[in-house]
Amino acid sequence: MSQQDLAYWQQQAEQLSIEGRAFINGSYVDGATKQQFECISPIDSRKLSDIASCDSADADIAVAAARAAFESGVWAKQAPAQRKQVMLKFADLIEQHQEELALLETLDMGKPISHALAVDLGGTLRCIRWSAEAVDKIYDEVAPTPDNELGLVTHEPIGVVAAIVPWNFPLNMAAWKIGPALVSGNSVILKPSEKSPLTAIRIAELAKQAGIPDGVFNVLPGFGHTVGKALALHNDVDTLVFTGSTGVAKQLMVYAGQSNMKRVWCEAGGKSPNIVFADAPDLDTAAQSAASAFCFNQGEVCTAGTRLLVEASIKDEFIAKVKEAIKIWQPGNPLDPNTIVGAIVDKVQHERVLSYIEKGQQDGAALYAGGDKAQPVENGFYINPTIFENVDNSMAIAQDEIFGSVLSVITFETMEQAIAIANDSDYGLAAGIWTKDLSKAHKMAKAVRAGSVWVNQWDGGDMTAPFGGFKQSGNGRDKSLHAFKKYTEVKATWMKLD
Ligand code: NAD
Repeated sequence: MSQQDLAYWQQQAEQLSIEGRAFINGSYVDGATKQQFECISPIDSRKLSDIASCDSADADIAVAAARAAFESGVWAKQAPAQRKQVMLKFADLIEQHQEELALLETLDMGKPISHALAVDLGGTLRCIRWSAEAVDKIYDEVAPTPDNELGLVTHEPIGVVAAIVPWNFPLNMAAWKIGPALVSGNSVILKPSEKSPLTAIRIAELAKQAGIPDGVFNVLPGFGHTVGKALALHNDVDTLVFTGSTGVAKQLMVYAGQSNMKRVWCEAGGKSPNIVFADAPDLDTAAQSAASAFCFNQGEVCTAGTRLLVEASIKDEFIAKVKEAIKIWQPGNPLDPNTIVGAIVDKVQHERVLSYIEKGQQDGAALYAGGDKAQPVENGFYINPTIFENVDNSMAIAQDEIFGSVLSVITFETMEQAIAIANDSDYGLAAGIWTKDLSKAHKMAKAVRAGSVWVNQWDGGDMTAPFGGFKQSGNGRDKSLHAFKKYTEVKATWMKLD
């Protein structure tokens, strides 16, 4: 048996031992109240483990440990090159355990094992290594001054960082925060989603093994409105970094205002337009890409291309191609390495996606493909990719982030119309533009209000590109050197040299 076999992964899953406790000050501990919640796999509704349900008492203990570690300088005052070495070792340990971590991710939130390995673990490793490698190449500044003064502009670690992350790419989203946060010298408290806590809990031990000192990296599983809220309201948390929904992001900003004005950086929701002009270089490629743009990760992607804006003259031809292209995006057993669409994260989300499919029909959109449940594994939560045509951009299915593979096809006649529809959204996370006209591509890229614009492809970029949103898709950027801005304070030191 090999990684290529379903039976291999089923056997690995049977043998897995799962840690469900919090990790505070270098040790796994039960939550202060000893309360637990059940971790259920959406693959088949099987209970995986009991998880510590942390609350404000745990937040207090973890923040105190993080603060003490920070003040001691045991991590913060190490040379960047030393922290880099520890973070590289941390990445090596994650790589050594990548099969186990990928399996935990798949069991926990239902994504295909092949994607968990290649995308989630691959992305996590790339992020931690890239951030580690960057830190000893970032210089401070000497300001222009008169001859008798010296002006230094330096960046200092900010202190205690709380990172609250979602369930769609649990480890990868955590890495986007903890990579630059830790290597910059901060102490971090990671709060994973209650829907996907397993990998965050597991890597805490690897962080310790790598040499990250006790108190510097803590993991608090639990519900958002309890331990997440406690962290967001805590007066000794200096910075809150968040990836999740726009509604919760707004609430976190309120909590910061109600407490210590901690810095709040949010990567939030999206409803990205994928705009296909009649002069796209290759309609077959564009259609295959449009299919993966809304089907990948069960559509549970912040940048999912769920609004397909198609030039009216090619609409019928193009959506027929997209319908053909989704044939490969049918749900299967997530533990089967050939599967590319897995289970929806849980029953609540499953019902939410189905309710939007119903709402689309009630609002007058025409169901063109899918729209129904699938059942590749008994008792699991699966939905076939769904395409609606004749969608008006004001409909709920075109405005709300559904977080499932539901595509709204909207037509346009002119470039100006395409821009107006694309920007008629509360969100501004990403956009795709398909045309071989270079001027049109540049004009569109400038006009579309989104943090990432992809031309003749979907989901381009690397760790070298900043990632984040305009408008209600968030503030600040993850990835690239831009991410480091969140994790340091800038100090101006002005010396008189007389
Ligand atoms: P969510 O907002 O429901 O939860 C995100 C995290 O916030 C979880 O850990 C949750 O426990 C916590 N939380 C919930 N309520 C809280 C509260 N009152 N106080 C403190 N913490 C609280 O989001 P989700 O359902 O886990 O994830 C899906 C969302 O994430 C989508 O909107 C998606 O677009 C977004 N997302 C954005 C990006 C990006 O980079 N822009 C990337 C991935 C996902």
